[in-house]
Amino acid sequence: MRRRVRNYIRLFLLLLIIANIIIVAINKSQAQTQEVEVVNLNNNNLEISYIDVGQADSALIRVNDKYVLIDAGSRESSNKLVDFLHSKGVTKFEYVVATHPHEDHIGGMKKIIDNFEIANFYMADVITTTKTFEDMLDAMADKKITFKTLNLLDSFNVDEANFVCLSSLSNNIINLNDASIVLKMDYLKTKYLFMADATDNVERNMLDYDLKSDVLKVAHHGSKYSTSAAFLSLVEPKYAIISVGKDNVYKLPSDQVLNRLYGSNIKVYRTDFDGTITVTSDGENIKITKEVN
Ligand SMILES: [Zn+2]
Repeated sequence: MRRRVRNYIRLFLLLLIIANIIIVAINKSQAQTQEVEVVNLNNNNLEISYIDVGQADSALIRVNDKYVLIDAGSRESSNKLVDFLHSKGVTKFEYVVATHPHEDHIGGMKKIIDNFEIANFYMADVITTTKTFEDMLDAMADKKITFKTLNLLDSFNVDEANFVCLSSLSNNIINLNDASIVLKMDYLKTKYLFMADATDNVERNMLDYDLKSDVLKVAHHGSKYSTSAAFLSLVEPKYAIISVGKDNVYKLPSDQVLNRLYGSNIKVYRTDFDGTITVTSDGENIKITKEVN
């Protein structure tokens, strides 16, 4: 009888220990869940890197944990670009956009296609016969990536970020710059305009749209053939970002454009002085940091 009682006590103690182990395990898993939520909360925002790729152009957009790449710089800067993207932890792009087939925008595209997974590839509705362009198409064929063109008012989204194409010239263009895919991105209450190398020919066709943006990626590396006063007065950006190479032979950005920007009290950032420029936002506030201070 006493033995039986002892066995009951043993069983009870054993159950108590098991219950304790289960409670500890549940608490631990809850703690882990909370940790994951905190990490996600920190990631739950927008980050745009206007990457210093010399006299070329490339911007990385992160929305939560998803990535978009607008242009891939030149071949010369392509290793630096790939290293930068790896340092950011990028393995896959939801969208890659080749705004127009000039070397300073698509020169690094072959390396991007070779090194990263790409879910959607957009390019301008033009073709050219340069080796750079053919290299890009060959790389896409090797990875079985098909491209789509983006036309006026075509749109796509990545989580809360909505992109709309505002470029309208795709036929009868003389200048490939005017084939540039122009994108406006709305992220909750904040707005961003990516002009690629569009000239004032394209700008004129955009004036009827809602252009107002917090951050303007200045067209064509700050060339005087873009960023007209009429256009700028509708965009009304707080910040302007110019992708431009140090001491470039084209002497960009032009003084006319710089004066226009400064004259409108717009804060100007440029990759030749500031290095890679990073814009972060929670959808309401915008913070800008520079690589070089
Ligand atoms: Zn360019």
